[in-house]
Amino acid sequence: MEKYILEVNGLKKYFPMSKGFSFKKEKQYIKAVDGVDFYVKEGETLGLVGESGCGKSTTGKCIVRLHEPTYGEIIFKGENVIDYDKNKLRGYRKQMQFIFQDPFSSLNPRKTVANAIGEVLYVHNMKNKKERIERVEELLNLVGLQKRHMYRYPHEFSGGQRQRIVIARALSVDPEFLICDEPVSALDVSIQAQIINLLEKLQGNLRLSYLFISHDLRVVRHISSRIAVMYLGQIVETAESNELFDHPLHPYTKALINAIPTTDTVRDRKKILLEGDVPSPANPPKGCRFHTRCPHVMEICKNEVPEYKDIGGGHYLACHLA
Ligand code: SF4
Repeated sequence: MEKYILEVNGLKKYFPMSKGFSFKKEKQYIKAVDGVDFYVKEGETLGLVGESGCGKSTTGKCIVRLHEPTYGEIIFKGENVIDYDKNKLRGYRKQMQFIFQDPFSSLNPRKTVANAIGEVLYVHNMKNKKERIERVEELLNLVGLQKRHMYRYPHEFSGGQRQRIVIARALSVDPEFLICDEPVSALDVSIQAQIINLLEKLQGNLRLSYLFISHDLRVVRHISSRIAVMYLGQIVETAESNELFDHPLHPYTKALINAIPTTDTVRDRKKILLEGDVPSPANPPKGCRFHTRCPHVMEICKNEVPEYKDIGGGHYLACHLA
């Protein structure tokens, strides 16, 4: 049986809305994540994709408990991390590292690379200065930087180099799992490929598992073995990457794939693109949440929530068309 390193069951994150004048008596919530289920196998990359504001980053932050989930289970290596106290949480966060989109704001501009990485090592009990310096050097080599970069400040690096430093810092505590939240979105296309290749290489060498969050389906396809598609706080389809691209079933997945630009500009111009805005997560549509934008909407879609189920071969779908 395949081992799951991470299982997320029924995850919800509701943010209370700020108090303003309202005739409504009940409290209002933004349902950023509303009943999400997925798993990540050991050593694989699960891509989590969807338009901005669909709840993918909130999902990632709930997993590391940067946000406290409203409901649900997060099972990491067989234990529900929701039950963890402060001490256990610290140990968990060593194994589960988070890489943010913007490498510049992730790094303190007043700290050299040696200090930025060294302080993490110090916090995690590597008190000997000489050992710390050696470890920083080793980590920089691992991410394609050199010893001479150690005493430079973040502003002296390019965006790609800064993201390498952030990755080195994440690796400093020997994690088993990385949550990469739009790690290449702020970078030029040519640099994006370099960082993706680096993440793939590190995964192979260090046996890491990834949750790779992105709005860009092309990037996600490149790195992920499986892809989960998220819409308005819920996962609507999950499948092996090739299966998802070759046989997308959910109309939203089809629309996302359809929107990927190709080199054929004439064909691109003829594409029917997804119209309308994503509804507010404070007041999501009844029934299927995608029904207000779906070209195949039926009466049932407006009233009944489609069940998210395995339709065979690990292909999961939530759609009444199934
Ligand atoms: Fe479209 Fe209905 Fe399927 Fe929702 S359930 S995606 S509205 S066909």
